Amino acid sequence: MIYLDYAATAPLDPRVYEAMLPFLKPGGLHGNPASDHLEGRRAREAVERAREQVAALMGATPAEIIWTSGATESNNLAIQGALEFYASRGRHVITARTEHKSVLDTCRYLETRPSPQGIRVTYLKPQAGGAISAEQVLDAVTPETVLVSLMWVNNETGVINDVVRLAPKLRERGVLFHVDAAQAIGKLPVCLREVPVDLLTVTAHKVYGPKGIGALFVRKQPRARLMPQMHGGGHEQGMRSGTLATHQIVGMGEACRLAEAAWAAEVSRLGLLGTRLWQELSELPDVFLNGEGASRVPGILNLSFAGVEGESLRAALPGLMVSSGAACSSATREPSYVLRALGRDEELANASLRFSLGRFTTEAEVDRAAGQVIRQVNRLRRLSTTQTGDAPPERSVQKEASQNGLHQDSGVPFDYSARVWDLFNQTPRSGCFTEGTALIGRASTPASRSALVLHIKMAGNRTIADARFQAYGCPTTIAVGAWLAGHVVGQDFRKLSELKAPAICQALEIPEERVHTALLGEDVVKSLLTQIHPGYRPA
Ligand SMILES: *Cc1c(COP(=O)(O)O)cnc(C)c1O
Repeated sequence: MIYLDYAATAPLDPRVYEAMLPFLKPGGLHGNPASDHLEGRRAREAVERAREQVAALMGATPAEIIWTSGATESNNLAIQGALEFYASRGRHVITARTEHKSVLDTCRYLETRPSPQGIRVTYLKPQAGGAISAEQVLDAVTPETVLVSLMWVNNETGVINDVVRLAPKLRERGVLFHVDAAQAIGKLPVCLREVPVDLLTVTAHKVYGPKGIGALFVRKQPRARLMPQMHGGGHEQGMRSGTLATHQIVGMGEACRLAEAAWAAEVSRLGLLGTRLWQELSELPDVFLNGEGASRVPGILNLSFAGVEGESLRAALPGLMVSSGAACSSATREPSYVLRALGRDEELANASLRFSLGRFTTEAEVDRAAGQVIRQVNRLRRLSTTQTGDAPPERSVQKEASQNGLHQDSGVPFDYSARVWDLFNQTPRSGCFTEGTALIGRASTPASRSALVLHIKMAGNRTIADARFQAYGCPTTIAVGAWLAGHVVGQDFRKLSELKAPAICQALEIPEERVHTALLGEDVVKSLLTQIHPGYRPA
């Protein structure tokens, strides 16, 4: 396993774990930091130490740190809280299409609320490199603008927005500035004494702290005001009620302390590792670095591989933990909205992988990952040319085959067993019956865009006299059809129930990653069985 998904979440640093233990283990310090006794006081001291550590990492004062459950909550609190508090100032918000979902969805929610609360949102489109310029933001400001919400570093591409230049200009215009810095702290120098941002979001699990704890910086001078979104005991200066999670907070404090100490060395190490990975991968033709030309943080590489699908590529790399698009939008299977916004067409956006490196990434892992990716991209590209009916590129197939030590002398592309390749080339029994009555079984898998139809003629009511097949799909699907049509002839139909995917895989030497073709075979047989024998229930 190689973990290159630090931008989704980073593993806990062992030192953070050690710092959390006294507040987590049975018999440890379990007091409520709000309690007025010794246990409470000790918990409170730990919380306040952590607050100092978090504040120190971003050049803030401890009183400006409000604990939350993470960046999602911080973003919600900042945007909703500010708009509610400053409702009388105006109703216009400026943000960007490339923001994290927790910003975009909050804005969408505010937009769709019925007036009088209705908010108007401008979603800026990034420039070619992927960044939002200070000018773009300033041009969009109107007298109605209350808030600008812009991320410091994009989580999909690592592209940096020029927050340092923009902040004083927004201050001059009296517009509140919220920054999602979840990907910035620990990677960029963040000093809020010098950068007049009003609200700033951070989360622990992107800097080797625990998941489920974050903070919102709320400036004291000049004071930024928020309406609380969580009502209760009035914790955190009334801005975020709820018993403080001491162990989580201590973990976040320690993670920030370590990040501050390690920052410079870590950034240069990640820069070298990232460059190494890109140099290795850019030996492949038609690979694009998303955000190239913009300034980016080291350690995040978002690459588009023309001619392959991100999901197929990821599936072909089971030992490599990377994201296709952002983890948050992977759940919806949409092509990355960030890459689309950046101007990649849908096909290239779909063909993208995000590699994000971190504290525990080694040079050896980078090299191994690059080797695997290069092999699989080559393989998938070759596959897609054979599928679209072009002649298989013999030479490179042979080369790859001998590299893999497979079918070296047989002239069979290494992706297919000899059995599959023969059946695919000869396609015996393809077609359908023209006269007489045949039983027809059908199956399809929309995900792989394959379909299989099996026509059989019975002799009497038990024996299968003849069979034909039709198939749409990859060579293996076609081979499964050809094999089934031959295999069933002369058999007692009851024997068909033995034709399950594992048996088909075995007969045709189908590798595991193409088991869906054998399942298609199993399904087509089941579909026939239910017709020959209406009482038949597939197992
Ligand atoms: C990870 C991330 C978030 C969400 O953080 P959680 O703590 O998981 O809610 C928000 N914004 C950015 C830029 C992120 O990278």
